[in-house]
Amino acid sequence: NAKRHGPGQSRYYLPEMNSRGDELLALETDLRRALEREEFVLHYQPQLEVTTGQITAVEALIRWQHPHRGLVPPRDFIPLLEQTGLIEEVGEWVLETACKQAKSWHSEGYPIRIAVNCSARQFQQHFLDSVRRILQKYALHPSYLELEVTESVVMQDMQSTTYILQRLKEMGVTLAIDDFGTGYSSLAYLKRFPVHSLKIDHSFVRDITNNEEDAAIAETILLLGNSLKLEVVAEGVETGTQMRFFQDRHCHRIQGYWIGRPMPANDLFSLMAGKNNSQAR
Ligand code: C2E
Ligand code: MG
Ligand code: MG
Ligand code: MG
Repeated sequence: NAKRHGPGQSRYYLPEMNSRGDELLALETDLRRALEREEFVLHYQPQLEVTTGQITAVEALIRWQHPHRGLVPPRDFIPLLEQTGLIEEVGEWVLETACKQAKSWHSEGYPIRIAVNCSARQFQQHFLDSVRRILQKYALHPSYLELEVTESVVMQDMQSTTYILQRLKEMGVTLAIDDFGTGYSSLAYLKRFPVHSLKIDHSFVRDITNNEEDAAIAETILLLGNSLKLEVVAEGVETGTQMRFFQDRHCHRIQGYWIGRPMPANDLFSLMAGKNNSQAR
């Protein structure tokens, strides 16, 4: 019986517990149970393709439908899943659920790409096997799966990461660098790894219209993407002005509340049906 906090608060508080260790243990137990009880859900956030005005890709984002706390955002439990190793199991569930959903949209006539976030810990042989198995199971063409990793993931253990990324490339799975520009990394990996797209982190987007440095960084990422023939995705676009900034500079895809918030699969389907059909007409 966790004590209730306001919706904005992320601290998980159990009054009878006094040490951080006990608290983590309780939360870990909760997370294991969550997986068994199927309390995790995926929400889907649309990405608008600028040239066509259609939703061509969707990012899967996990939430925890907690029996007492309501919908818990990933920042409150992903780090713990990573620490405990549960991320491997949950990550596989995410991958399977997202691919299954993508396949279902495909059969409804919407050939969209599904973007799935991956933690560093998932980057192992076992993960490759899961990707292969899941793509086969749902007969999903690999080019429709985009794995999102941060710079720290590609920089972690160069040798094994290179191996994993090469296998993914052979499979035909695409790769996006998430939160691009925020990590500590060398750009050299961009030529070595089969990167397909760069996602401009929303910290650069937030003040883009009145902060010259942010605008300059975003423009530089767009130039880099263009020169290296990578797609660039703007994250966290919340206003029409931000939207126009990226449209004017030929950003490929736009993701953010301005296009749509992360939402349940059915809602996304309705949005897509409205938008993509009206554009096609
Ligand atoms: P991310 O991959 O960079 O995802 C983008 C985050 O920005 C999402 O937060 C999304 O809801 C939020 N966002 C999108 N548009 C806007 C906007 O216009 N304004 C603002 N202020 N925010 C926006 P969310 O869903 O809370 O996810 C947070 C992070 O948790 C993700 O960042 C990702 O790193 C991680 N995550 C989410 N799902 C998974 C998952 O299935 N597996 C793993 N390993 N990590 C995940
Ligand atoms: Mg992401
Ligand atoms: Mg991001
Ligand atoms: Mg992030």
